Amino acid sequence: MTHQLPHVVIVGAGFGGLAAAKALRKTPAKVILIDRTNHHLFQPLLYQVATSVLTPGQIATPIRNILRNQKNTTVIMGEVTGVDKDRNCVISSDADRQNVPIAYDYLILATGASHSYFGHNEFAEYAPGLKSLADAEAARNKILQAFELAEAEEDPSRHRDLLTFILVGAGPTGVEMAGALAIFVRNTLKSDFRRIDPASARIVLVDTAHVLGTFSENLSKAAKQRLEKLGVEVRLGHSVDVIDAEGVVIAGERVASKTVIWTAGVAPSPAGKWLNAETDRAGRVRIQKDLTVPGHPEIFVVGDTASLDQNGKPLPGLAQVAMQQGRYAAKLIHNRIVGNPPPSPFNYFDKGSMAVVGKGFAVLQSGKVRISGLVAWLVWAAVHLQFLATSSLRVSVFLQWVWTYVTGQRGDRLIVSPHRSEFAKPGLDTTTAKGTFASRQDSGAGRTEGVKTPTVGAKALREVL
Ligand SMILES: Cc1cc2nc3c(=O)[nH]c(=O)nc-3n(C[C@H](O)[C@H](O)[C@H](O)COP(=O)(O)OP(=O)(O)OC[C@H]3O[C@@H](n4cnc5c(N)ncnc54)[C@H](O)[C@@H]3O)c2cc1C
Repeated sequence: MTHQLPHVVIVGAGFGGLAAAKALRKTPAKVILIDRTNHHLFQPLLYQVATSVLTPGQIATPIRNILRNQKNTTVIMGEVTGVDKDRNCVISSDADRQNVPIAYDYLILATGASHSYFGHNEFAEYAPGLKSLADAEAARNKILQAFELAEAEEDPSRHRDLLTFILVGAGPTGVEMAGALAIFVRNTLKSDFRRIDPASARIVLVDTAHVLGTFSENLSKAAKQRLEKLGVEVRLGHSVDVIDAEGVVIAGERVASKTVIWTAGVAPSPAGKWLNAETDRAGRVRIQKDLTVPGHPEIFVVGDTASLDQNGKPLPGLAQVAMQQGRYAAKLIHNRIVGNPPPSPFNYFDKGSMAVVGKGFAVLQSGKVRISGLVAWLVWAAVHLQFLATSSLRVSVFLQWVWTYVTGQRGDRLIVSPHRSEFAKPGLDTTTAKGTFASRQDSGAGRTEGVKTPTVGAKALREVL
């Protein structure tokens, strides 16, 4: 009698939501997992897609494929825009249907975080972040495009601006990205160009504080030294005041660049607003020791969008925290449904943190253990392989890493963008339209730069388009 089963709705199939769904596989309940994308994303390896080591398909898997054998779970692709606590339903929309209520008896919100530009939302246009597959592909396109533009540019004085890459934020994402980019430009691309020397590319990593600020001082120093050895310019103690089409301004100094990537702050999802619940200063929902929202024992919030203190400190936004919380929420719900006593309050077990700094070098901090170098890198590789969603991804990523390590070659160096050329547009009709090549024109109607001016009539052009 399926309709009599309690409904457990999980919003978000990232680390927290997916762990919760999997842990409910034996629970007598109808589990509904909603995500706005169709895939579970392994965010820690996003930087490897952005720097062409891995392909998008190697770090993301369709959610329904992961849960294909879990008969009590239905996967729905939709964007949740609110929670109606009085009617016990979440409101979900997709491209076809708007504001569909989905009822729950238990609700787990695991909607993660997005970028935070610390009040400078105008930076977003020029400094994309690294949170989704689309972000990583956009960053990869931008990086590869910079080399193509520089190779095509006859004026060598413009090469430096085109080949200056700025990463804002020296946390794990910025450090890993800077290290991978340095190896990419100095090794992988070294023989591919004729007019430019890719190794001359300038990589600048900026932060107001330290490199890997959450790691011990020694590991932070080791990571900085390693980056500098790889040729990365590390600029600490400075904030980025301006980011625009020409580059950035760091502590009053203009640094010209066509490629700026935001690797700094994150902001939680709007779950706090949906629930009208108390949040911390960052906007994360304050939850209780059993991960529920005060006054709502049926609503759980886990992962990056939740705020919970342990030993007087807020738990960090890490995959391990999200997964352990997801499993805990599932266990508590299971126990309630089957009539078992609740588990003891949630307690995060910290297995440690790691960050990679280029080829064969990582820093690792776990309890009193602090190591850097090749051994840390091997541990990093083993742990990351273990946490990929499926065995096929593990095999594929492992083989790619071995290939890249040995040959220096990378997996995916394609610039993939919609096939629509600004230059070709007005002269699309190559058979009838006769174009003249106009130099830069400014007119009241708008600006055209070096585009073909079609002499074909408007009707013919409409037909062509
Ligand atoms: C580049 C990068 C590198 C990282 N590296 C590490 C690392 O090395 N180690 C580590 O421990 N952590 C790392 N993290 C942090 C880690 O990825 C997060 O802590 C973790 O993903 C949090 O899990 P979560 O379940 O809370 O959210 P997420 O994993 O972000 O999942 C949220 C899910 O919710 C979905 N969603 C969001 N809003 C909606 C909505 N309105 N409707 C429907 N679905 C929605 C999203 O599509 C997503 O699938 C990294 C993060 C990034 C961005």
